[in-house]
Amino acid sequence: MRLFGTNGVRGRANEYISPEMATRVAKSLGTYMKSEGTVAIGCDTRISGQMLKSAAIAGALSAGLKVIDVGVGPTPSIQYYVRDYADAGIVITASHNPREDNGIKLIAGDGSEFPRDGERALEEIYFSEKYAVASWEKTGEFTTDPGVNDYYIRNILRSVDAESIRKRRFKVVVDTGCGAGALTLPFLLRKLGCEVLTLGAQADGTFPWRNPEPLPEALGELSDLVKKTGADFGAAHDGDADRIVFMDEKGEFVNEEVLLSMMAQYVLEGKKGPIVTPVSSSQRMADVAAAAGVELHWTAVGSINVARKMMEIGAVFGGEGNGGLIFPEHQYCRDGGMACAKLLEILASGKKVSDLTKNVPVYYNAKTKHPSKDPAATMEKVKAEALDLGLKVDTTDGVKLCFEDGWTLIRPSGTEPIFRIFAEAKTEARAEELMNRGLKMLKTAEGSE
Ligand code: MG
Repeated sequence: MRLFGTNGVRGRANEYISPEMATRVAKSLGTYMKSEGTVAIGCDTRISGQMLKSAAIAGALSAGLKVIDVGVGPTPSIQYYVRDYADAGIVITASHNPREDNGIKLIAGDGSEFPRDGERALEEIYFSEKYAVASWEKTGEFTTDPGVNDYYIRNILRSVDAESIRKRRFKVVVDTGCGAGALTLPFLLRKLGCEVLTLGAQADGTFPWRNPEPLPEALGELSDLVKKTGADFGAAHDGDADRIVFMDEKGEFVNEEVLLSMMAQYVLEGKKGPIVTPVSSSQRMADVAAAAGVELHWTAVGSINVARKMMEIGAVFGGEGNGGLIFPEHQYCRDGGMACAKLLEILASGKKVSDLTKNVPVYYNAKTKHPSKDPAATMEKVKAEALDLGLKVDTTDGVKLCFEDGWTLIRPSGTEPIFRIFAEAKTEARAEELMNRGLKMLKTAEGSE
């Protein structure tokens, strides 16, 4: 049985994600850690956060771990703290999921996401219910640390050229969506000398302003305010602020694939080295890497795969095409606050956000989904058919068919019983065509066509 998906475990709060589950996950972690070491436990702003955090604290103490309650903060803020002060972390968050949900995410001692094999071992303990139970005098010690977000902000300030940014006195509109980023982003920007205007900056887990996912259609007011106030750009976080998206100075949404590539371009101007991204990312990344004369490594989908590969090869930059950017000089995880500080560093040279987006190669994307019944068998058939046809195939994650002028990727979703089909090409029509080709192959493999 599986508990953890692509990004921890998530579901309806106080139903699937119950206090009992939080206690059992924490007990499992304590058992996995042989009742030794310190775990930092925090949560995002979701209403059920304190309830689930308390339950997780109880479980960890019962297993004999020391616990530091770090309160409410962004996932990257808690990850940074774990890296420096704990042996593991538990973050109560459902990231960009809807208001009603919550979730549990585990952090490894180096601050990166918990490794997959660790999750599997922990699941085994969870389902067997064979927990380590500390004797009464060895139940864990408990402390709190309210300084987590300040520590995080201070360290971002050290990882960018704060002096150059401060001189420019930027004006920035932020929409933190009532999530955990409300506790960090406005203050980080103020410390970078910015004039900050905020939307949804009350940390309120009922999310009265918008749902936690920063979709372009949910950010109309952010766009309007950027235009009305003549701001340099707009920024919006997801619920736990590991991701960030931007509006340029004209209030235009910056496509996240374009954001990823423009950041890669900037990093590579400063230092040459390999970069990393999942196979679902845009060909733009390959073009950017080729132009800079560096290697690009494609990984399976999931930020943990990107982060681990970056550590392994000493990459200078990595990230996903969903606003999840990883800067190794700061930490090996997606970090929305750090990404915003980096954007300011780029703009400090006098460029505008729209100048940066214009510099990135143009591609068109198409995507669709299709219900899946037997994903493993279907994927084997798709792969066999593609090889029969003599197509160039990449099977890092799902089946990616590579053509001279584009690609299509067919992969089973990690969270829903569906296949996702992505395509990319130099024209809109060709992207559609490649997407449909992928869908047709999938249907043939299923025998439904
Ligand atoms: Mg998130």
